Amino acid sequence: MKIHNTLTKRKEDFETIEPMKVRMYVCGPTVYDFIHIGNARPMIVFDSFRRYLTFLGYDVNYVSNFTDIDDKIINRANELGIDPKDLASQYIVECKKDMEGMNIMPATTHPLATEEIDGMIDLISKLIDKGFAYVGKDGTVYYDTTKFKEYGKLSHKNLDDLQSGFRDIKVTGEEDKKTSTDFVLWKPKKEGEPYWKSPWCDGRPGWHTECCVMAPKYCKGALDIHAGGEDLVFPHHENEIAQYEPIYGAPYARYWMHNAFLNINNQKMSKSLGNFFTVRDVLSRFSGNVLRLFMLSTQYRAMLNFSFELMESSKASLTRIKNCVDNIIFTLKNKNVTVNLNSRLDNIDDFDELVVDLKTCEEFRDKEVEAFDKICEHTKIYFDKLDDDFNTADAETEIYEIVRIVNQTISEDCSIEFLNASYMILNTLLGILGIDLTKEGSDTDLDEKLIESMISERSEAKKAKDYARADEIRKKLLDMGIEIEDTRQGVKWKKV
Ligand code: AMP
Ligand code: ZN
Repeated sequence: MKIHNTLTKRKEDFETIEPMKVRMYVCGPTVYDFIHIGNARPMIVFDSFRRYLTFLGYDVNYVSNFTDIDDKIINRANELGIDPKDLASQYIVECKKDMEGMNIMPATTHPLATEEIDGMIDLISKLIDKGFAYVGKDGTVYYDTTKFKEYGKLSHKNLDDLQSGFRDIKVTGEEDKKTSTDFVLWKPKKEGEPYWKSPWCDGRPGWHTECCVMAPKYCKGALDIHAGGEDLVFPHHENEIAQYEPIYGAPYARYWMHNAFLNINNQKMSKSLGNFFTVRDVLSRFSGNVLRLFMLSTQYRAMLNFSFELMESSKASLTRIKNCVDNIIFTLKNKNVTVNLNSRLDNIDDFDELVVDLKTCEEFRDKEVEAFDKICEHTKIYFDKLDDDFNTADAETEIYEIVRIVNQTISEDCSIEFLNASYMILNTLLGILGIDLTKEGSDTDLDEKLIESMISERSEAKKAKDYARADEIRKKLLDMGIEIEDTRQGVKWKKV
């Protein structure tokens, strides 16, 4: 598998520090309000990437923090007249609800900045001892960017350019800063703000220190992958490297993955611009599956424009997939086979085994042999696309191809083996993208009850020789997309 590394600006072969183990850290949201769908992009992208790594057989330690102390949290809590801690806790709960709504797996660990202050004080002390940080008169601790020779290596910026860019920017409260690019590691408390004791002053850490303390602690060492949105490359991730590497004397992360922005009208969706939709809003109109299909319909490094029209089109695509899968289930049901809706291939070896097993399947009808071959080809292309810097956009196209082939092939006389294999493969490919059709409303169950009752009403009508009524019901069912067939075993139906 190849992934694009922001550090080298190249696609590189993926090799882990420990064999078949992945240490992955994704910067999480600052929790002062409901998250918007811009924040959801890294969540969905990297959750899917984690699922794919797991499918490839990796044991993934996935760590993602909540920033629960920060200026924005304090300001909002002051506006509302509540404790910043309570505000953050409340929005962590809300964020977790949204994540569940989007079918995002809980991280292996979700550390909180406020619970890691001791580790941050420890790191800052070490940076001061080694001469990479200095203390101002008011107890503010600054990182000295001139001391770290590789500063700028992730964002591919050089220090001189950065300094001239920063020259005119003076931030109040940072009077003792030596160089414009230096950044705050610890800042003194202001009246009414939460604070922690430290050797320098009562105060709190700057934002850039939390991740490089939590990441190595919970990932147990340097990282294989550090990920987040592209706005984090500079300064956040650059500053994390500058703190970690002088202390540990080793690279912080092997691969840096950054998703591009989710835009609206070609502008970054953000809280401050006010051009956002919350995940909660969007999930009240569309399912989490539709949001995922939309979010993954563009490769993660390409800009993605949000609109409700595009969401409608993803919804139509999901319906097409679901109708196909439902058809497989109904056809099996008509053969008295109940499908375990959660059945999917756990890993890539299971897929290879399935292909070998079914290559010589004698139950396959002629048309199924050819169709199964094509399905396997498209499945392999799907994996190739994901192996190429996680190109979910092209991978989705392969799912649509498989749906087309199944739709062309499926009929009453299909073999149970072909139907089962088609279900298994589709459910697996959807599962890697975090799409779970069992969560796609319960209209299938409702439909089923309604359909069954209409069919028995039709049978009653036929018994009573009321053929006009029986025909009327058949037509009604057809309008609903249900075709019925009278067989010796009774009435059978399928979606058309
Ligand atoms: P924040 O809460 O602003 O720290 O953001 C949390 C995560 O969401 C970070 O990885 C950001 O890069 C990412 N993010 C925020 N806005 C967008 C957006 N419009 N498009 C893509 N990612 C975003
Ligand atoms: Zn971070």
